[in-house]
Amino acid sequence: MPATTTYPVTHILGFPRIGRERALKWALERHWRGEIDADALQHAAREVRAESRQWFRGAGVERPACGDFTFYDGMADLCLLFGQAPDRFGDLPNDIASLFALARGKPSEQGSLAPLAMTKWFDTNYHYLVPELDATRPFRLDADRLLTEIRESLADDPASKPVLIGPLTFLWLSAGVSREERLRRAPELADAYATLLSEIAALGAEWVQLDEPILGLDLPADWLAAFEPVYHRLKTPGLRLLLASYFSPIEGRLALLASLPVDGLHVDVSAGDDLDALADRLPAFKVLSAGVLDGRSIWRADLPALLDRLEPLYERLGERLWLAPSCSLLHLPLDAGEETDLPPALAANLSFARQKLDELALLARGLAEGREAIAHEIEATTEARLRLEALDGRQDTVRREQLARSLTEKPARARPYAERATAQRARLNLPTLPTTTIGSFPQTDAIRATRRAHRRGEIDTTAYEQAMREAIADTIREQESLGLDLLVHGEPERNDMVEYFGQQLEGFAFTRAGWVQSYGSRCVKPPIIWGDVVRPRPLTVDWSTYAQSLTDRPVKGMLTGPVTMLSWSFVRDDLSREEVAYQLAAVLREEVADLSAAGIAAVQVDEPAFREGLPLRRAGWDGYLDWAVRAFRFATAVAPDDVQIHTHMCYSEFNDIIDAIAGLDADVITIETTRSNMKLLDAFAEFEYPNEIGPGVWDIHSPLVPSVEEMVDRLRLALDKVPVERLWVNPDCGLKTRGWEEVRAALQNLVAAAVDLRRDYGRE
Ligand code: GLN
Ligand code: ZN
Repeated sequence: MPATTTYPVTHILGFPRIGRERALKWALERHWRGEIDADALQHAAREVRAESRQWFRGAGVERPACGDFTFYDGMADLCLLFGQAPDRFGDLPNDIASLFALARGKPSEQGSLAPLAMTKWFDTNYHYLVPELDATRPFRLDADRLLTEIRESLADDPASKPVLIGPLTFLWLSAGVSREERLRRAPELADAYATLLSEIAALGAEWVQLDEPILGLDLPADWLAAFEPVYHRLKTPGLRLLLASYFSPIEGRLALLASLPVDGLHVDVSAGDDLDALADRLPAFKVLSAGVLDGRSIWRADLPALLDRLEPLYERLGERLWLAPSCSLLHLPLDAGEETDLPPALAANLSFARQKLDELALLARGLAEGREAIAHEIEATTEARLRLEALDGRQDTVRREQLARSLTEKPARARPYAERATAQRARLNLPTLPTTTIGSFPQTDAIRATRRAHRRGEIDTTAYEQAMREAIADTIREQESLGLDLLVHGEPERNDMVEYFGQQLEGFAFTRAGWVQSYGSRCVKPPIIWGDVVRPRPLTVDWSTYAQSLTDRPVKGMLTGPVTMLSWSFVRDDLSREEVAYQLAAVLREEVADLSAAGIAAVQVDEPAFREGLPLRRAGWDGYLDWAVRAFRFATAVAPDDVQIHTHMCYSEFNDIIDAIAGLDADVITIETTRSNMKLLDAFAEFEYPNEIGPGVWDIHSPLVPSVEEMVDRLRLALDKVPVERLWVNPDCGLKTRGWEEVRAALQNLVAAAVDLRRDYGRE
């Protein structure tokens, strides 16, 4: 221990901005509806920020983040900060109306101006707005809005640390011009950042954190080489810079990072960064910020294990060691204290954003004053953990042994695709170019109201089920009269494709207020997988067999795949994701078997999140893909030859994972292709994808009804790449967000397009 008990500095990289009870969401949406003005919205935001600062102070966070607040998205804020609104918007000042224009589009005389595209922030479920740069638009700093917020925080707590996304990450994640061009602009952008930093210094800030999470990606050498000159340019008198990397280990870049002209480095220990190796290389004046608390885990930390790791480091570095969560706490719900409905043994083990602040303070105390000083808290955490481990359903040994016995190295259907296809054709008796949909049909107000009434106990289960049966019967009738070939029940009973299954499975829990921002005002409430996953009874068989009883045409069963359930949940931390994926696959396997036994001739297992599970660095891809494919195959391999297995993926790039997609060995895959004008199919054509494909021919994200001709054209493009025997005709994705009128019109055209082409091919 160092002689004096200086506490290690505690800090955070960022905090949820949506506020308690999603206050900011409601204020934003009222503002957008014109119910409150910009001042009232600003007021709501100030309250959210002030409350957060109270929590920081209460927990004793020494250098809380500031400037990380946004009314929509931080990348879009940066566009305005540096004058990078696309030209179509004209001259946008840096204010919140402009931010909303970038985020949500803007009406104009020539029709509406398209908003910026949105995409996932690294491997999180947060979505950022993609800046559109242009080769000549200069970077013009307009910092008043940001400086006002920073001033507000500094007035409250002079140790607050402004946080900015770094210039190279901003450029890397932007679009509009080529990667080379973006890198070429780096010196110019660095100049603008330098001016900004000197203005921040003038406000009295001591430290600024610059986030460069691209340091954890496979970066080309010229981008890596740009860090040195750019950060050299950012050196600002009177200001110290903390460069932050997170989400993925900086492996192989220690020497580069240690030598950059900054005053401190933050690394993500939970992603596997090696603190000791970094400490070995770090010049003696630099701070090492250890991102020790996993900023994306909802579970309490194992304090003694962390102390084991940190004590020697603290001895070496003394006050140069800082402690932090690994990344911004934005990706966690706000407060586990709200979860009064969960089993206490589970709730006591949760650590959301606020609890992370307390854990941080405990770690600092444990280091500075010795473990004895926090012995009481350590004991309480250990005890809570033991209660969780003892919880019924946490470890179902019988179930685990069963799973181990049935999970083979490479689960496989009984026969290869070609032989299955013959059996399926004989049974399903579909025309060439068969038509189908992706599963959901419009979720009307009436359907939502019925589900809500049932949830609140206002109507009983009999009445609820009757209403859902009626919705299913309507959907079947509609599909029959439209002339679709492979029908679906329409999913009226499903609120969300993961929640619906989770609620019927053991091992899942649902929070009351565990909201996490997904984009703008939109939040999601992921379920928690805390125990072994068990299916107490069939999940979808009643709905599917009811739908099938109404028609002579085949009805496709509809399930959410193991990888998607995993990706859209918070997962227990005592098992690997791989193990949990197999548990999820095992319950789906039972469901596939039951659907098959009940006479269902086609089952779709949706995996829209298949690709987003990919690790950030290529080196990790094979490992992930191996188990993800294995889980899908385990879930579906029980299907008899003549049961057709479909899968569906949307928003996916397939080029680099096409062999894994083929490895799923689904009989049919439907994908989103309309917006890329069937380009996505190239990967399938080049690879000579062996099974059947349904490239979407209707972009369901747009309210436009595609014409027969448009869809015929798209199908002709597809026919250049996929043999007619293996081509399906379907929309890009599910129809739950669309209205019946457009659905009817578009599907009518879709069926007509298929009929048209069948004539050309001489088969009906
Ligand atoms: N079967 C789902 C639906 O139609 C698929 C949703 C999705 O791909 N995200 O809604
Ligand atoms: Zn989809």
